[in-house]
Amino acid sequence: MFRRSIYKTPPQLRAMVEPGLITAAALDAVEAQVRVGVTTGELDAIAERVIAERGAEPNFKLVRGYHHTTCISVNEQVVHGIPGDRMLQAGDIVSVDCGAQYQGWNGDSARTFVVPDASRPELVERRRELSRVTEGSMWAGIAAMATASHIGGIGAAIQDYIEAQGVSDVSGETYGILREYVGHGIGRKMHEAPSVFNYRTPDPGAEIRPGLVLAIEPMVTAGGEATFVEDDDWTVSTEDGTDGSHWEHSVARHDDGIWVLTAADGGAAGLAPFGVVPVPIP
Ligand code: MG
Ligand code: MG
Repeated sequence: MFRRSIYKTPPQLRAMVEPGLITAAALDAVEAQVRVGVTTGELDAIAERVIAERGAEPNFKLVRGYHHTTCISVNEQVVHGIPGDRMLQAGDIVSVDCGAQYQGWNGDSARTFVVPDASRPELVERRRELSRVTEGSMWAGIAAMATASHIGGIGAAIQDYIEAQGVSDVSGETYGILREYVGHGIGRKMHEAPSVFNYRTPDPGAEIRPGLVLAIEPMVTAGGEATFVEDDDWTVSTEDGTDGSHWEHSVARHDDGIWVLTAADGGAAGLAPFGVVPVPIP
């Protein structure tokens, strides 16, 4: 069987810039509308409209059996929540995952938001902290794409970052990292080889070198790492009912450095604390 190389050519990397930016624009539009009373279905429609306006298509709809532009996961749901009639409430923690395919190339990205709730500042603060830890671990993993020799260095960086954040106020232990769900290569297809684990593994994995494009996506909980799939056959929720958070970017390694395809600034702001300066794809 023919196996496509996991390393892409410079023109292929350049072709992945636009789908990344379209994905980012869709999430920007969703972020602007996250508030009490909006339904997850309405947020999905916003993302779909932005992607269509830019001449792209939602790549989640190309996944067999899935009919939406986004996955929206609320509170104890971590990933793969199906948008619909659910109305967001004050204090909800909401992860939105989205992707666009443009001229045959894909972007994939996720962000977590916390709906403000003036009456429950402690809950909001706890949930913001979970999102901050998750986002920070993603940037640590992205930074490793610039510095590590093998893909295993990304998972190690993510796990190390999370463990350095201390304990969750909910569990009294370090934050949980989902094990059954992982990041992935991305290109002509949204999901390509190789897998990108969000934790340390004995196998160092493939070499990180120019042409590699990965979706790096830690999924983190305020409690344990065990999850189950709900009766809708999609939604992944924590077994212990604690909150989940999910952050994701599609990132290219090229001849001169790394570039975050799904961030308008190429990842400059998120990478600054790690001393990594992203370089536009030449
Ligand atoms: Mg995704
Ligand atoms: Mg992904």
